[in-house]
This record gives sequence, structure tokens and C-alpha cells, in this order.
Amino acid sequence: MRLNTTADLFRLTASILLTLAIWPDISEHVVAQQPPRPAAGATLADAKPRPEETEVWEPVPKVVTPGVTSSNAPSDAIVLFDGKSLDEWVSVRDKGPAGWTVAGGTVVVNKEAGNIETKRRFRDYQLHIEWRIPFVISGSGQARGNSGVFLASTGPGDTGYELQILDSYENKTYVNGQAGSLYKQYPPLVNASHKPGEWQAYDVVWTAPTFNADGSLKTPAYCTAFHNGVLIQNHSALKGATVFIGSPSYVAYESAPIMLQSHGDPSEPISFRNIWIREL
Ligand code: MG
Repeated sequence: MRLNTTADLFRLTASILLTLAIWPDISEHVVAQQPPRPAAGATLADAKPRPEETEVWEPVPKVVTPGVTSSNAPSDAIVLFDGKSLDEWVSVRDKGPAGWTVAGGTVVVNKEAGNIETKRRFRDYQLHIEWRIPFVISGSGQARGNSGVFLASTGPGDTGYELQILDSYENKTYVNGQAGSLYKQYPPLVNASHKPGEWQAYDVVWTAPTFNADGSLKTPAYCTAFHNGVLIQNHSALKGATVFIGSPSYVAYESAPIMLQSHGDPSEPISFRNIWIREL
């Protein structure tokens, strides 16, 4: 470039000054477009996502010693019936001693004594309970080995949430009232009943319903259950407490006992054994 005039000199000077003035912006912009520079000595592999980035190390789950078999109580369970005493239970009627018959490691329903319930109250839990229809059993339909586990007993009589117990081995009844049903709400997914005289087991995961301050329902109760190891209820959302007549509805509760039903049918009484619970 030839500088012919003073004006040319002025334009050149202004151009140089402008370039110097905006240089930091240009340089910043250029740097921002660049990928982060690896640290000194880093290789290309260091810039890739690593498995360690999604590992969680805390908090460490508590150690629980499992039972000898999955039917035996693990170390953190509360044993509700060990075959020897009903110390964990009371009569629903008068809150006095549970008047059922303990013998030979089992407890037999006493139909005169009525329902029994736990002294403790529970919210969310895992429950194991074993039951047996007598080898000699009479009656049919709902009048054949009827009992039930009330997963939350929330009022007098049969008020609460019943997982049905019944002799459902070749015994026809309405399916939402057969063994393993959430009474009159959900039939079991399958009928996994053993024959009368054989011990059977329920393993249940119960999630209590939650309520708003005004008593309205926030989240429903959920029940997952296995009958003799077979899935029969898969995260079933209850529509309220289970009822004999009419539609279910919710009444707010915080915690509740677990109740075993002494049903009024005239068939031979059933037995229970090995009952334990883990609060969640
Ligand atoms: Mg029942």
C-alpha cells in the first residue's frame, strides 16, 4: 500500500486501532468454539465418558442375614408368631389375649374368639405368613376354609384391606373372592393353591395409602403378593378398603395393625404358622 495522502495515513492508523480494540472479543470467540484441552499428558481416551462416572458408593445398604431358606425370618424381621406364643397378638373384640389355640408350632383359629390383630401397628412392610386348610374340610364356595389377612385393620369388625384366604383348590366361587384376591377388587393373577392339608405361604409387599391434610387420598395402597412363591398380585392399586357389599372407599389412617380373620362360616378352622414382618 502506498500512502499518498495524510488521509490515507489516517485511515490506516484507524484500521490498526480498531483491529487491536476488538481482538480480545475475536480471540475469546475462537477459544469458546474449541473443545476443552486435555490436561498435560492426557490421552484421547480420557475425554470419553467413563463407567466410574455413574457409580454410586454411598449410602451402603445395611447388612441383613437372610434366613436359612426364604421362608425363614431374616435378621431384621419382627417375628409375629414363632409357633410358641401369641404374645404379639390381641383379640380385636376386647384387646385382651388372643384366644386362638397354639399347639405343635401352629395356631388354630378359634371361631368363638373372633378376629385377632397385632399389638404393633405398621405402615409399609414385607410380610411372610403360612396357612393351612385342614385335610378334612367341608362346605363350598366362600364357606370352605374362609379366613383372611387384613393387611391394615382400620376399624371394627372386618374393616380394612383383606388379602383373602380360602380353600381355592377345586372350589368354585367368585374370582375376586378366591384365595389370593384383594377381596372384591382384584382376583389373583393365577390360582396357585395347594390341596387341603398342605401348608401354603403368602409373601406380601404392602405400601400404605397416603392422604392429604384434609383426609383426601394422595396415593393409593399398593399390594404385591406371592402365593406359594407364585406372583398373584403385581403392584395392585387398591380402590379403598375391601368391603363385602358396595363400592370401596378410603378413610385416612396413619398406621394399622395386621388382622387375621375368624370367619363365621361353619367349615373346620384353618391354621397359621411362621409369621414375620420387615418394616420398610
Ligand atoms: Mg375372608
